[in-house]
Formats: sequence, structure tokens, C-alpha cells
Amino acid sequence: MNVKTNLEAVAQKMYGKAIAQLDDKQLYFAILQMTKEMMQGKGQIKGSKKVYYISAEFLIGKLLSNNLINLGIYDELEDVLKAEGKTLSRIEEIEPEPSLGNGGLGRLAACFLDSIASLGLPGDGIGLNYHFGLFKQVFVDRQQTAEKNDWIEEQSWLTKTDITFPVYFGKKKVMSRLYDIDVIGYEQGVNKLHLFDIETIDESIVEDGIDFDKNDVDKNLTLFLYPDDSDEAGQMLRIYQQYFMVCNGAQLILKEMKDNGYDLHKMYDHAVIQINDTHPTMVIPELIRILTEEEGFDMEEAIEVVSKTCAYTNHTILAEALEKWPIKYLQKVVPQLMPIIWELDKRAAIKYDDPKVQIIDKDLRVHMAHIDIHYGYSVNGVAAIHTEILKDTELNHFYKIYPEKFNNKTNGITFRRWLLSCNRELADLITKTIGAGYKKDADELEKLLKFKDDEALLSAIKAIKKDKKVALAQYIKENEGQDINPESIYDIQIKRLHEYKRQQMNALYIIHKYLEIKAGKKPSTPITFIFGAKAAPAYIIAQDIIHLLLCLQEIVNNDPDVKDYMKVVMVENYNVSYAEKLIPACDISEQISLASKEASGTGNMKFMLNGAVTLGTSDGANVEINELVGDENIYVFGEKSEQVIEHYAKADYVSKKFYEGSKVIKEAVDFIISKQVVAVGNKERLTRLHKELINKDWFMTLLDLEDYIATKDKMFEDYKDEAKWKRMMLVNIAKAGFFSSDRTIAEYNRDIWKLK
Ligand SMILES: *Cc1c(COP(=O)(O)O)cnc(C)c1O
Repeated sequence: MNVKTNLEAVAQKMYGKAIAQLDDKQLYFAILQMTKEMMQGKGQIKGSKKVYYISAEFLIGKLLSNNLINLGIYDELEDVLKAEGKTLSRIEEIEPEPSLGNGGLGRLAACFLDSIASLGLPGDGIGLNYHFGLFKQVFVDRQQTAEKNDWIEEQSWLTKTDITFPVYFGKKKVMSRLYDIDVIGYEQGVNKLHLFDIETIDESIVEDGIDFDKNDVDKNLTLFLYPDDSDEAGQMLRIYQQYFMVCNGAQLILKEMKDNGYDLHKMYDHAVIQINDTHPTMVIPELIRILTEEEGFDMEEAIEVVSKTCAYTNHTILAEALEKWPIKYLQKVVPQLMPIIWELDKRAAIKYDDPKVQIIDKDLRVHMAHIDIHYGYSVNGVAAIHTEILKDTELNHFYKIYPEKFNNKTNGITFRRWLLSCNRELADLITKTIGAGYKKDADELEKLLKFKDDEALLSAIKAIKKDKKVALAQYIKENEGQDINPESIYDIQIKRLHEYKRQQMNALYIIHKYLEIKAGKKPSTPITFIFGAKAAPAYIIAQDIIHLLLCLQEIVNNDPDVKDYMKVVMVENYNVSYAEKLIPACDISEQISLASKEASGTGNMKFMLNGAVTLGTSDGANVEINELVGDENIYVFGEKSEQVIEHYAKADYVSKKFYEGSKVIKEAVDFIISKQVVAVGNKERLTRLHKELINKDWFMTLLDLEDYIATKDKMFEDYKDEAKWKRMMLVNIAKAGFFSSDRTIAEYNRDIWKLK
């Protein structure tokens, strides 16, 4: 059946109307329903061994466009709608974005599900069905406020299943309910994203903003992703959520083993559990608990079987992000798990007496990553430099014990979303130039290198960039009320707000440039600095940085001496949908984390694929981007990770020395508390940020500031050399193939999963 007859039938059944008579919302629901049915028709991907990707986050973004592309019916549907006087891109806007993730880690999980299915591998996601997900960001008085983000409508991608499991928190029992989202591969069958929920959830307990009673688990368990954990009730709620996720996951996996008639004693022949960061770590003791208590395993064998089934991905070296739960909390929430954790701790302690590799430390906290490393068979980092740092420093004590477990899997992104869907024009141009093979084998993008001097192609790429910049300017006008100039350079930094990502360094550059223009030194090409970032509600300095950016937006964009030469825009509620509009329009991709701190980054890859040039430190996957494109197609600055790690080891970085030692730095930093900024801002926030930069600056902003300014100035200068810039764009696109998550997943499968 073709798309037109399908859609007509669904429209009749749902609304008793023809396509042309539906309003856009009804039409969206009809297309949603048709797409769900067509995906089901594709059939489940099968095999005798399956990966379960378990993760607290799946930042899937809107699904309609991607599902249509993967079904191979996007163009056809677009034509059908056009003939009825409807516009598919407008219908796509109606879909609410599920915010089931926070940033890169959750987006990675979503890209991986797409690639697992697209490679035809059996693999399901396991996570939670948060009703409000991550908060929606709203700016009030140039400050971030948080609101709930509801995304579940009466009709959605979720399909309610009849699967429910009992979950015990000690003696307290709750019942879960499984909802599934189909994940269709590109011209492939479907896998599933399993999202567990609790039947007794009560959305009405959410008061102002995102506040709610943290103590009533029956009502609040799956309301939010990462509820504020700055108090005990918040920390306990996170443990409740984590255990709820893994207990359901473990029961589902064991159910599938049994349904298939597999021998649980050989579970590892049929299942791999990929543990995405430490949030799902309790799946290890939970499986051991079930196998010993309910399946008649002895402890020895249960540990062996589970250890051969579980693999762990590390996403960070930031100490504060490596979870350590106090035993007293675990004891309260999941007392049944503590005997297993004690046992795992005891066994590790007998073998290894080094305090750095113990599971339970002297302060009676459980190091979740240590459970994963001792009792999983694989430990992977997410970019080459990150894995080396894990082996050499952060996890060196474990590397010495288990060198064979450590491996690298450099992150990737799905090209279906980050090229074919978000930049169809560029995808079509590439297809016209080198054929469609790159859609399945991303390395074929290298064929573009033959066209390095092809003026027609280079200009066509530049023209698409220009169109995307015009479209973004329009979108920003509508959504932020800011006027930006499509002829200006778009310099974009979009990612979670964190001091290690150093949005504050970019802000200091903006101040520096502003002061230069005020002093009469005008840039030859106007520049637009664009930011998008949410800050964790309990992360005060991050909120202060957002406040500074919004103050700078106010000052710069309204200064008649300056506004024709530069603009600043901080977009509200940055999310996947916004990323899909920003990235195709970008000229300069800001990847300026303190070297050694950004495990990989994936934003950097999306920008490169869309023809932006990277301005970055030698950190995360930037290092691999640099190796691929060569020094002449990237702008790298700042201290290298070895030196940074040494600064930390010696504790010899003193920000005040940089502040006092450089007029440029001092002027920029002091502007934060100048009369001009304080007049539009909040003095307490600005003063705190100013002090932080001078007295602490844990992520060494001032260390790299002068090099950053010089490198960025050089980049703006080079932008005028159009021939050079266009060539850089082309080389970046051509070399992006390595960063397809299809490559990443093929490596996971080759080295870790070995799916059949
Ligand atoms: C890709 C992506 C990220 C990750 O960006 P980084 O620059 O790698 O930190 C975060 N949020 C969204 C919405 C994304 O699409």
C-alpha cells in the first residue's frame, strides 16, 4: 500500500474526514498513527544474542521526521501533503520534544539506538518514562527559571504494553508499567526503546515551576529526570529511580531469556547489558540477587554469569560526576541489595588491598563505577584521549589490574538526524555530487575531497549555508525577538552550561571585542555570538554565567556604536530541535573546554558534518577531528591536557596571577562588575562570578584566555578569505564520516557485544 492510501485510511478511521479537511494537529496525529503502523509492519530485528542499552537518559528529540526518513517515505509523504495544500515541515513543528535527557550522554544513547537498528543488530534501550523529563528553561529578568516540560499527549510514540513488574523498595512494593517506543533502522526493521513507568504517578503534585514533594515515591517516581539532589530527599529519590530502572530492566531481560528458552547459566551467550555511565550500575547486584534468591544460583556462579554479561561505558573524569552513594541511603531504599554489595566489596577487597579500588570506602560510600569495573567485562572511554587519561591517571589503578578490559570507542552521531533530516539541502547536494552510498557507508564522504577546487560545488555549499543562516535569523527573530544579520559570522556555542565547557571564556572574549569596538577598532565582518545552554537548577555559578550572557545580550544589542558590528543571542530552552536549526547555520563551532575535561563531545561532530569550522582546545574528540582534517582546517588553542593535569597535580594554577598580569584579561574580567553591567543585572550574581574567576577559577579560564582571543581573531580574519574558508568547509564535511555512530556501533559490536 502506498503512503497516500495509508494516510487516507487512517484519517477516515480516526476522524471520518479526508486529509484536506484535517487541521494541522489532527493531521499530525494521523501521520503519527500511520507511521507507527508502518513501522510495526517492518518487523522486529531478530538474532540469538541481543544488546540491552540501559541508560537513565535517551535524548531522542522529535521522532516524526527521522522515522519517515528511516521508513523511506519522507519525500513521498511530503508530495502527498503538498497536493492537499499541507506542508510537512509545518506538521513536524507540532510534535512536542520529549526531553528524556540532559545533554551529550543522553543524545549519544539516542544516536546509538538509531545505529544499532540501522546496522540490523538486535538491541533495545531500557530507561524511564519521565513525564516532565528535563525542565523547560524560561528567562525572567535575565535569569534562568525552570518549568515543567510535558510532552506526553493522548497520542504519542509511546505504546502501552501489558507488561508490569513488581518492584520492592525493602518491604514497600510498587507496580511498574512498560511503555515502548519503536526504533526503526534506516531501511531496516525495528528494535524497541523500553521505558518503565509507575501506575500511581500523580502529575498534579508539581507546584510552582518544578517543585514537588520529594518524599512520596508512589506519586513522584518518574516525574522528572535528575530531580534536584542538593538535599537528602532528592538524593534518595535518585536512588529510587535508579533502582526502579534496573529492577525492571533485570526482570525484562530475564523474562526474554526464559521466553526464548535460553539457559540462564549461559545468559552471556544471548545478552549483553551495556551500562551507560554509572546510573544503571545497580543492575549488576540486582541480577546477582535475583539469580541467587530466585533462580537457584550459588553466589560464585551468579557473579561470574553477570560479570560476563555486563559492560560499562565511562563518560567523565570529573570527580563530582562519578556517583558515590552513602550506604545509609542505599540501606533505606534498597536494603535487599546491600548484602550483595557487601559481598562484592568483600571479594574485591580480598583480592586487591589498594584503597583506590575498593567498592566501599572508609566514609561508607559505595563507588558505583568500581562495581562496574570489577564486575563487568569491558570498560570503555568515549574518545581516544579520554580513554588514555582513564588508563594513565583516573582509573590507572584499575587498568593495572584489568588491562584487558579497557578499550576505546570514540563517540559518533547518527547522520540520519544530523545531516539527512536537519540539512536536507546539503544531503541532496552531496548525493548529487558523489551518489547516495555515503548514507550507508559514511566513509564515502571522502569522495568529496576530489572536489576541493571545484568552484561550482564550493559555492553551492556556501549558498546552502547562507540559506540556513537566513532561516535561523528568521527563527531567532520569531522566538527570541532578536534581530541578527545573516551576513555576519555565526559563532555558536551550544551545550550544557558547565564551568569546564567554559562559556565564561567566550563571554570574556565578547566583552573584549565590545570594548575594542567602543574604542574604535571595528571588525571588518560583523559577528553574531550565539549561545544555547541549560544549567542544573542547583548549580549556582552556571546560573550566574547564563545571567552574564543575558546581560551582555542586552548591552551589546542595544548599543548604537556596536550593534552593527556584533550581536549576542542566548536562545531560550536549547534542546535537540533547536540544535537541528542552529547547527546547519553555523560558521564557527565553539569547542573550548579545558583540555582533559570533555570526554568526547558530540556537538563538535554535528557542526563539522554541517560544514562549520572548529575553534577548540585539544580535548575529547576535537583531537581526532584535528588528526582527520589536518592543522590547516581547524583552529586549536590552549594548554594541552598533559600540562593541565600537571597543574592540578601540583596545584600551581593561580588565576589571580593571570588577572593581575594582563591588562586585557583584567579589563574583561572587571567589566563583569562595571556600572554598565550592574545597571542591567543582578549585583549578587555578577559579584559572585567575578570573585570566582579571580579567586578560584577551577577550570582555568584565564589560563587560556589570551590564546583564545588571538586564535579567534585570526579565525575572523581568515573568514574574509572566501576561497580558503569554503575549502575548510568542504574538508570538514568530507572527513566527518569517521564520526558516524554506525562506525561507533560497528566497533562496539566487533569488540564488546559480538552479536549474532
Ligand atoms: C549533541 C547535543 C549535546 C551535546 O553537545 P556537546 O557540545 O557535545 O556537549 C547536548 N544537547 C543537545 C540538545 C545535543 O543535541
